[in-house]
Amino acid sequence: MSAAETSTNAVSVPRTSVPGLTVTGDNDFFFEAAKEGRLEIQRCADCKTLRHPPAPACPSCRSFSWDTVESTRRCTLHSFTVIHHPKDPAFEYPLAVGLVDLEEGTRLVADIAGIDHDDLAFGMELEVGFSEHAHGEILPQLRRRGEA
Ligand SMILES: [Zn+2]
Repeated sequence: MSAAETSTNAVSVPRTSVPGLTVTGDNDFFFEAAKEGRLEIQRCADCKTLRHPPAPACPSCRSFSWDTVESTRRCTLHSFTVIHHPKDPAFEYPLAVGLVDLEEGTRLVADIAGIDHDDLAFGMELEVGFSEHAHGEILPQLRRRGEA
């Protein structure tokens, strides 16, 4: 039996189980800026505390007033993991995911591209670039500084 014959009875497998974005009035600035290659970070308009991911209220002073600042996208690798399983068709494996300290003083999580996983090291200098994901959304991606 050929592969084509077996696939006629196969259950249709979705391309990805990764959910689409939930865009709200509190986070749309982030995704709109990403489409233009900019990393915008939410800042409390009252106490100036940065926060990411975006949220309605400041965790420091509970203010609902906020604006944004544009990040330099320069960061250092605070921590990372390399995921082998479970595999989703939207990603290539093994998949490295990093937690970085942005130069502005807050953190961000994103996948890491273009770096041999054996070369990943805490404190290494990285830069936030952007890439298209499963549903066409543009999201941050970590790369070697100067290659983003
Ligand atoms: Zn605040």
